[in-house]
Amino acid sequence: TAIMEKILWRRSLQLHAQQQAWQESLEGRGILEFRQSLPAYKEKDAILTAILQNQVLIISGETGCGKTTQIPQFILESEIDFVRGAVCNIICTQPRRISAMSVSERVASERGEKLGESVGYKVRLEGMRGKETRLLFCTTGILLRRLLIDRNLKGVTHIIVDEIHERGINEDFLLIVLKDLLPRRPELKLILMSASLDAELFSSYFGGAPLIHIPGFTHPVRIHFLENILEMMGYRLTPYNQIDDYGQERMWKMSKQAPRKRKSQIASAVEDALRAADFKDFSPQTWESLSCWNPDCIGFNLIEYLLSYICENERPGAVLVFVTGWDDISSLKDKLQSHPILGDPNRVSLLTCHGFLASSEQRRGRAGRVEPGECYHLYPRCVYDAFAEYQLPEILRTPLQSLCLQIKSLKLESISEFLSRALQSPELLAVQNAVEYLKIIGALDESENLTILGRYLTMLPMEPKLGKMLILGAILNCLDPVLTVVAGLSVRDPFLTPLDKKDLAETAKLQFSRDYSDHLALVRAYEGWKEAEKDLAGYDYCWKNFLSAQSMKAIDSLRVEFLSLLKGTGLIDGNATSCNTWSYDQHLIRAIICYGLYPGICSVVPHVQHNEKSFSLKTMEDGPVLLYSNSVNARESRIPYPWLVFNEKIKVNSIFLRDSTAVSDSVLLLFGGSISRGNVDGHLKMLGGYLEFFMQPAIAEKFQSLRREFDELIQN
Ligand code: ADP
Ligand code: MG
Repeated sequence: TAIMEKILWRRSLQLHAQQQAWQESLEGRGILEFRQSLPAYKEKDAILTAILQNQVLIISGETGCGKTTQIPQFILESEIDFVRGAVCNIICTQPRRISAMSVSERVASERGEKLGESVGYKVRLEGMRGKETRLLFCTTGILLRRLLIDRNLKGVTHIIVDEIHERGINEDFLLIVLKDLLPRRPELKLILMSASLDAELFSSYFGGAPLIHIPGFTHPVRIHFLENILEMMGYRLTPYNQIDDYGQERMWKMSKQAPRKRKSQIASAVEDALRAADFKDFSPQTWESLSCWNPDCIGFNLIEYLLSYICENERPGAVLVFVTGWDDISSLKDKLQSHPILGDPNRVSLLTCHGFLASSEQRRGRAGRVEPGECYHLYPRCVYDAFAEYQLPEILRTPLQSLCLQIKSLKLESISEFLSRALQSPELLAVQNAVEYLKIIGALDESENLTILGRYLTMLPMEPKLGKMLILGAILNCLDPVLTVVAGLSVRDPFLTPLDKKDLAETAKLQFSRDYSDHLALVRAYEGWKEAEKDLAGYDYCWKNFLSAQSMKAIDSLRVEFLSLLKGTGLIDGNATSCNTWSYDQHLIRAIICYGLYPGICSVVPHVQHNEKSFSLKTMEDGPVLLYSNSVNARESRIPYPWLVFNEKIKVNSIFLRDSTAVSDSVLLLFGGSISRGNVDGHLKMLGGYLEFFMQPAIAEKFQSLRREFDELIQN
């Protein structure tokens, strides 16, 4: 070890010399000057001293002040200056993979290095780091996974958890684990970084840990909402409630005021778009999906109008437009370039910037950094207000099933006990429901231990029901269509139903339907799109069939991602490609869908009235339910199967099922739930309960004899 220490010492000296040479070089000096202009730099000494004196430190400061790029770098530089360069090991977590990748690249370049030298990154399925990497940017999920195999994070000297104000479920989970770890690793430093000022919650969670705030300076920014923008155009948007014939609430009314301004072509296009826009089952997410920049959507028209308005009426300056994704950015760019006023590249600022609607607050800060300005929100004030609700920490508003599995995979104590130590604990009932669900689907056994299925599910970071389908699809060798089903359930509904073309859209979907299954309809639609893409006609195909091209592309890339995840589980060959070789059997896929969606199940009750066939649906928990109007099964007069499995229930006035697939008795019997050691009996009881409840005597009897056999088996 003495030799080892000597080697490390020598290496640390080398790193120190390297760092100094860079900082003294011409380029290095230039970058240092820029870094020194960031608000975070002024707090450098205070931050380093506080880290030295405390195990936990919380740093807050508004977006752009230099938290992410500078603070990990301060720590690394100071470690190198104190000749600990070769022994320090700093991990900085990011909630999103894209930021882990881009930030590490930026920091490496600020240090005059290539990525993978002292600075690296690691995200799921990808990474760039070397033996000498001392500062690693990774996703929160990666650090959690490391904790699985290395509970004490041996050798790690600093952990920086970034963007804690977002209150992502992974970050909240990580904080519980780290809080437990701190006493076991007294020399480990934990730094939490937040873009919101109210970081006291975190401070008190960590026993009154010190807080450093990085003061910033911003100019005033005036805010306008959609109402105000429309008013400029001579329209008034007023919320009102009306129930339409589908039982949906329509929330908005457009009314014309005496036009204050000449009504431009763009203004009427916006009006048309707003009329066509479907404001039903309204939520910030729906709003976000509405304002996507498809040519038939409201978003682009509004942007176009606004930009022309701004160019004509506002003082000179730059306009920052936030768009939701890469595709949108490039399509917006194409449109703007061919625009008479907006095509002038000197006037319009296409920046790419990753973000989420809910963080608009911070983005406004970004706009106000250089000079005063205006901020136009392309959504109404009440959507903005509704964000307050969506700002609830993720752990309090999302299903806890995956989290519970993760807790179990870390071999932690009882799930509810563990979660009671969270920053803000979810309700006990929510935890109990999640645990119960995991038992029903066979991921946990009766004593809350992970089953083999559960262990595989922890390797697939997605909702357990989706993971189950992938696993069975891999085992039964018909993965290709299953990848499409699972990807389809992970994106926005690819079947679009514009309100003014509802009928046409629903008829278009029916062409893909042959087997009483929305999920199989999607598989066909996707396969058709894939064919069309070969002739570069994917977009036309989507247009004709009322499909979202964006969702199709998303499905395409998710399929690849899911396939790599499955390779990681070892269930399929590492060289496998999902294409062609694998069998496509609709009965098999139906069974796999049932395996995933159970216990989302309802019984089909056929009846004949005035010689007309029809059916009604019933679930055990909620009694009668209805089908969402764009389900292919909603158009059928009869369903030749006794059961439907479904992904989601939506409660409006009645309870509606979104996508559904019809399944037979035997499929339900064999694939409903999961028979695994320890909970077979519970599972059979549950299934038996269903059958008895819906009074299907023949099958119930068959079933009872199966149970008796099983009981005998157990007894022997
Ligand atoms: P924070 O984490 O506090 O939001 P960052 O450390 O990400 O701030 O960014 C600080 C500043 O560094 C930004 O305001 C920006 O000017 C600059 N910056 C960050 N990333 C890049 C980049 N990839 N290229 C150029 N400048 C960057
Ligand atoms: Mg940041």
